[in-house]
Amino acid sequence: MRLKLAKKVGFCFGVRRAVKMAEEVLKKEGRANSLGSIIHNKQVVEDLSARGLKVIKSIDDADSGVLIISSHGISPHLSGEILKRSLKLVDTTCPFVRNAQKTARSLGEDGYTVIIVGDVNHPEVKALYDFAGKLAHVVKDALGLKALKLKPNIEIGVLSQTTQSMDNFLNVVKAIIDAKPKNLKVFNTICRDAQVRQAAARDISGEVELMLVVGGKNSANTKRLFEVCKNTLRKSYLIETEGDLKSQWFKGVSVVGITSGASTQSVKIIRRKKRTRKEGCK
Ligand code: SF4
Repeated sequence: MRLKLAKKVGFCFGVRRAVKMAEEVLKKEGRANSLGSIIHNKQVVEDLSARGLKVIKSIDDADSGVLIISSHGISPHLSGEILKRSLKLVDTTCPFVRNAQKTARSLGEDGYTVIIVGDVNHPEVKALYDFAGKLAHVVKDALGLKALKLKPNIEIGVLSQTTQSMDNFLNVVKAIIDAKPKNLKVFNTICRDAQVRQAAARDISGEVELMLVVGGKNSANTKRLFEVCKNTLRKSYLIETEGDLKSQWFKGVSVVGITSGASTQSVKIIRRKKRTRKEGCK
């Protein structure tokens, strides 16, 4: 069986940065809290937890001086709450997410109806919604936009969760144009990494017989990547660890493609390769 690796795999810039910041804090302080998972990767979070990280659901649960904010960012309301407490804030919000937050805030302040394309339950989107102010709506897709029944002749600004697919974003933009706004401002806030990763996954899915998408099952960008692969190749599977693999998937398959979400580290693949080579020499 031949394996083909997508051109873009492993941690993205924002996730690598967040993990590094957390590691440095733990090395210096010995312990720290993180509000929710720093990244959507169970294995990495478990590893950090073994080094002193405590994942908490609410700032009320913080039990030491340091609070780490994930790369997805937090709402301005919550930032204000944290500042009122004597907690040392380590903010790992990805700069691309920060850019989307600034865009949402500026549109809201200018009185625009703000449409955010994304998953309503995702922490990044919840924060963007708060940044955008009172006239904000979150929609998953073009159908969601139509269900809003927007009035014609209003001023609309649209942006995206950083890990959405470009096709979905453009479909929503088209649906907004159909709603006949007075003025429309479109901001492509999908991050470059997500775009390149999705394009690479689409390419490789067209060249193989089976596609594996490695990543956290709760990771938005991994799920999006899986959708992209599935749209090209029906035999695409999302796996979190090797334990998820099923031997029957591979019957009669000679070429397998592999891609990964932005919060999946590539180090495990490399370690496994080295071990296999060593074992082969014995
Ligand atoms: S996927 Fe993009 S926006 Fe999200 S953390 Fe990575 S680099 Fe930042």
